[in-house]
Amino acid sequence: MDIKALVSKMTLEEKAGLCSGLDFWHRKPVERLAIPSVMVSDGPHGLRKQDEKVDHLGINDSIKAVCMPAACATAASFDRSLIRKMGESIGSSCQHEKLSVVLGPAVNIKRSPICGRNFEYLSEDPYLAGEMAAAYINGVQSKNVGTSIKHFAANNQEHRRMSSSSNVDERTLREIYFPAFETAVKKSHPWTVMCSYNRINGVYASENKWLLTDVLRDEWGFDGYVMSDWGAVSDRVKGVAAGLDLEMPSSGGINDKKIVEAVRSGKLDEKKVDLCCERILNIVYRYIENAAPETPWDKEADHMLSADIASECMVLLKNNDILPLSKTDSIAFIGEFAKKPRYQGGGSSHINSFKVTSALDAAEGLNVTYARGYDVANDVASDEMIAEAVKAAKQAKVAVVFAGLPDSYESEGYDRSHMELPKCQNMLIEAVAASNPNTVVVLHNGSPVEMPWIDDVKGVLEAYLGGQAVGLAVVRILFGDVNPSGHLAETFPKKLSDNPSYLFYGGEGDNVDYREGIFVGYRYYDKKEEDVLFPFGYGLSYTTFKFSNIRLSSNEISDTDELKVTVKVENTGKVAGKTVVQLYVGDVSSSVIRPIRELKGFEKIALEPGESKDVTFTLSKRAFAYWNQDISDWYVETGDFKIEIGQSSKDIECSALVKVNSTVKIKKHYTADSIFMDILSDPNAAAKIEPMLLQLKRVFVHDDDTASSDKDEAVSKDMSLAMLNYMPLRGVLQFGGGILSSEAIDQIVDLLNS
Ligand code: BGC
Repeated sequence: MDIKALVSKMTLEEKAGLCSGLDFWHRKPVERLAIPSVMVSDGPHGLRKQDEKVDHLGINDSIKAVCMPAACATAASFDRSLIRKMGESIGSSCQHEKLSVVLGPAVNIKRSPICGRNFEYLSEDPYLAGEMAAAYINGVQSKNVGTSIKHFAANNQEHRRMSSSSNVDERTLREIYFPAFETAVKKSHPWTVMCSYNRINGVYASENKWLLTDVLRDEWGFDGYVMSDWGAVSDRVKGVAAGLDLEMPSSGGINDKKIVEAVRSGKLDEKKVDLCCERILNIVYRYIENAAPETPWDKEADHMLSADIASECMVLLKNNDILPLSKTDSIAFIGEFAKKPRYQGGGSSHINSFKVTSALDAAEGLNVTYARGYDVANDVASDEMIAEAVKAAKQAKVAVVFAGLPDSYESEGYDRSHMELPKCQNMLIEAVAASNPNTVVVLHNGSPVEMPWIDDVKGVLEAYLGGQAVGLAVVRILFGDVNPSGHLAETFPKKLSDNPSYLFYGGEGDNVDYREGIFVGYRYYDKKEEDVLFPFGYGLSYTTFKFSNIRLSSNEISDTDELKVTVKVENTGKVAGKTVVQLYVGDVSSSVIRPIRELKGFEKIALEPGESKDVTFTLSKRAFAYWNQDISDWYVETGDFKIEIGQSSKDIECSALVKVNSTVKIKKHYTADSIFMDILSDPNAAAKIEPMLLQLKRVFVHDDDTASSDKDEAVSKDMSLAMLNYMPLRGVLQFGGGILSSEAIDQIVDLLNS
């Protein structure tokens, strides 16, 4: 299809009309030109195709579909091929259901554990979020169906989500909040991007030219179309000019008219409207020309796939010789979630599952009893429920409490106000643990919770929101049919106030200042040397692994070279299992403030007992670089970098140093206000002021070893040197003992800049 030719045949009204939705889920057709209408649907972890009585809050029913594990869980798999498989299955079901684009993945960074939508987001770490998002997108799009990576950008809270301004410095945006989008755009070319509701530094994402055009398209090379989040448009005309192609859902034609008026009055260049139409139609026809509506959708097979994926995501947090359970032992399953699991979050990602497998269903035939423990709907545990649970626990060899967050505790639309489990569930766990020392807790939640009972139980399995087959995955892991291999994609702090954004999260009115900057998640906890409940990257297995013999392809490289890092990984236990080899990089000494370590590589490896394998990572410039605001680019400062291999961010097993030499010369600009320390750290500049410096030092530092005087005690040699270091050039006038005139200082400044 010749898209340009097609657009040239459209009237201005038709073009403006194409730039907004027909209804909640459809693009507008242009019947005169036989341009069809196509449908989009929410995901990302299944289809939420609403046929009738549309709404976007999950209130009305959608078609029966398969609910896969939510992103909080899938990220913990650290397994690119697994999440790609999930994408492929979702892509196929889109083809079957004639959906052109699935609205996901959602990749916003988990700035705080209490963001209501964290269950839909991948990680606190931008590298992990980017890699997993790219794998998902590649999976879906391999079926010729588009994705809409969302919500671009810095959309990290639900509180006042449609009006708040995320006030973030550029370095933090570039290093923390952008890379998941950037990686996905570069590695998987999403067909569409969804801009977020919020403003960024005062400008709505939906009308932010820097964001939607300069960064997204010109720098990263995005070639699809940008749609708004549902209702994220404030000024539609500004949006068109900024690069927002499609407004969703629709403004009932009001904003289309504004576009027409703006073009007619000369306020908006019609070429911009043409461009929006071209980008939208490019994608519409990419789908139409590759549509495969005969694609089968085997929901039962996807249900099993969902179980397989969930089995790879769950994180074993604690295991004091209690798991796996024996299939012949008597086990009590306690807690309503054993029978009616919480397996997905609320809001636009809510799936109408065609079936659900609970742990009780999956344990059929085993020696398992059940006690309800608490009433989820009313968030209470009556005395009778607790008594029944205690009795069941006493009669069993092992008590497994199924706990977690009820739907009302975390959802799209609002944030949590605390990080606690329901009080009735904490009470139940305490009561059960007091009556049976062999107590295990299985958690169903989309984000971290405090665990006041952690020392009183022998095992904890974080099942997250594991999708509709969650019970099957839990039972496989509890009874050892699957060896757990999930690792946390987020830190579990001990308490909410430990989180770096705690003091500022939520903001004041519409202003949300990201004052913790780049220190999000483990970047903060590691630098502060703060204890956490469970660190980023952490996860146990029924076997043990050893990482050793780290080798680098070179001990010194330039920032344009690649570095290969190889490490030996060994299964040192008695059963087969999978581990996540994590590679972190840290700048040993840096002139800017940087985290101790940042994740720059990971691989999930399967090993038989006693087996070992070499794993090799390739690092390039970005693994060492920080965003340098002076040059508006990524920059590697010459020096030593530590390469660390670990089982979590706090469990580093081996490391090596590499020197990286920068090939980028940053031209410094000096003025009379430049301080000596900065001039002296630049060898070229230092050489130019050497004669003057010698004179100055004589004035400043008295190398007189003779008897100390009051003056020597008050102004030590160190202090004199420090004063000189921090003194601006112009200070020579006041403190230089008359060695330079004002004109001479100007000449030195010229010399330094020459
Ligand atoms: C959500 C999006 C979703 C859209 C359509 C919005 O409220 O923020 O993630 O895709 O609704 O349901």
